[in-house]
Order: sequence, then C-alpha cells, then structure tokens
Amino acid sequence: MKNLFNANKLKNLQILTISAYIFTIASLPLIQFSWGMVALTVFMYFLIFGFGVSLTFHRSIAHKGLTMNPIVEIVGKFFASMGGTGSPISWVLIHLAHHRYSDTDKDPHSAKDVLKYLVGNYPQVSARGMRKLAQSKFNKFIHRHYYLVILTYGFVWAMLGADYFCYGFVYPMVLTMVAGHLVNWYTHSEYTFNYRLHTTKDTSQNNVLIGLLTWGEGFHNTHHRHPRRANFSMRWWEIDITFAVIKLLERFNLVKTNN
Ligand SMILES: [Zn+2]
Ligand SMILES: [Zn+2]
Repeated sequence: MKNLFNANKLKNLQILTISAYIFTIASLPLIQFSWGMVALTVFMYFLIFGFGVSLTFHRSIAHKGLTMNPIVEIVGKFFASMGGTGSPISWVLIHLAHHRYSDTDKDPHSAKDVLKYLVGNYPQVSARGMRKLAQSKFNKFIHRHYYLVILTYGFVWAMLGADYFCYGFVYPMVLTMVAGHLVNWYTHSEYTFNYRLHTTKDTSQNNVLIGLLTWGEGFHNTHHRHPRRANFSMRWWEIDITFAVIKLLERFNLVKTNN
C-alpha cells in the first residue's frame, strides 16, 4: 500500500501544521471571545488528544493496554486523526519506533529535534510495519485520504461559522500538535519539576503539570517502564484523566483493560 508519509506528502503535513499556527496567531485578536467557545475548544481538545490520541491510538492500538468496542474505537481513531499529527497507521508506527529506539539516532522524534517536529516535519514510516495496521479498512481509508478527510472535517466546522471553525476545529488541532511535542520534548529532558519513578534506559520523566495538560500523557517515565499499563499514574498526585475515562467506559462495557 502507498506510504502517506513519503517525502512529497510530508510537505503537506508541514503546510497543514504551519498554516494552523499562523491561522491561530492571526485569528486570536480578531475572533470574538466567549467562555462557551473556550469550553468547546477544551472539549474538542479532549476528544482529539485525550480520547483520540491518548486512549485510542496510544494506550489501545499501539500498546494494547485495553481493548475497545469496535465502534468506540473507530470514533476514537477518527478524532485522533483530526489532530493533524498523523493517521492511525503513521501515528502508531512512529510511536512504536520511538519506544524501540528512544533517545538514540533512530528515535523518530528525539527531544533534541523538537523544533523540527513542531513544524510537522515527521519522519517517514517503514512500509513493512504498515501491512498489519492496514488490514483495518478504516485505517487504510484515513491513511490514504488523510488531508481530504481533515479538510472535509474542517469544512463542516466552517459551515457553522467563523467562531466554530476557530474554536472547534483549528485551536484543538493546534493544542494537539503542541501537546504531543511537549511530551516528546519536555518529558524526555532533565528539566525543572520533572522526576523519575523508575530506572529506564531512556531519559523519560514524569511531570505533574504536563500530565494534567495532556490528559495523563505526561507521566512518561512510568509509561516507558510499563508500556502496556493503561493507567499512567502511580502516585496520588498524578492525575490521569484518560484513565478515569477508561474506567468510566469500562463500566458500560465499551472498553476492557488488559492488564
Ligand atoms: Zn518517550
Ligand atoms: Zn507509548
């Protein structure tokens, strides 16, 4: 199957990423402020990064920490893909390569190269790993038509009006782009307020504030030590909102934790 993340298509992701940043900076002074709209951004940021990227892409598909009801999984994969950081296939493959080669030259998003990835300059993914994930027709469709799906989704928001387009589509996407790189950079560096609970070969760290802002993803040292664990929190002060949602969905038999 065709590799979305080949050199030419990668430029498209950079264009999407940089356009989203420029649009955000340009629109903020112009767009009307309302707390209701801010709540919409937070809700969509949760849907895309918390439920989508963290719960579905990361903890379920990449690490198999939980099994999801197929319909709930498709909803998660769809919203995760609308964050502008890749399809279910490319996101999962890049992430698994990060675990395999953390902090080495082969790490697809080493903390040293944060500026490169912040502007959407992602590495190519290997065609070999794609086959298994491409068995899902949904994965294959989103991967092949990634930009078209995002643009169509953005168009639907635009139909609702300029404020919905900004607060519901662009801002949550930008937050998702920044949040992912914040984890990859800050919690792979020995910076202030970071701490380690476990000895690992990599530089991964935990950070309470980043954990809160990224729906639990900031407890990255614990995650590197126990990648298959659906719960990233190991201390009472580590608030893992994604895991709270997993427990809630488990009550309704919509997901099942595996460990
Ligand atoms: Zn990491
Ligand atoms: Zn991981």
